[in-house]
Amino acid sequence: MRCEEVQERLSALIDEQLSQRERELVTNHLHTCQACMEEYQQLRRFVEFCRQMEAPEPRIDLWREFQPVLAEIIAEQRLPMSQRLRRQWSRLVSRVCYGIILFLQVVTYQLTLTLSRYIVEPEKPAYIRPMQG
Ligand SMILES: [Zn+2]
Repeated sequence: MRCEEVQERLSALIDEQLSQRERELVTNHLHTCQACMEEYQQLRRFVEFCRQMEAPEPRIDLWREFQPVLAEIIAEQRLPMSQRLRRQWSRLVSRVCYGIILFLQVVTYQLTLTLSRYIVEPEKPAYIRPMQG
């Protein structure tokens, strides 16, 4: 078999669509011909890559996660104005509280840094100092 004939049958070989006889001829040629072997390996790698791309991805069930959130939003829309305002108010208050807590943490951290400058290491008593001379 000539190189051209072999290379025409490479994809059929990978897809296992050659007859027994053809497959023997092609594989025999591949073992003796470096160029066709490289062609075959490249093609096989490409086919494997494509098969991986085709593999079904695990489907994330976005709707199942989103649906309760949406239901909550719709339910809130149906509430009377006074209740809706109360809910929005309590949400706002909790957010403001959260902000205050964060702010206090930053302030405390800054204060610790500032005050640490004024912390002086206590001087060791004279009798601990090593004798000089
Ligand atoms: Zn060849």
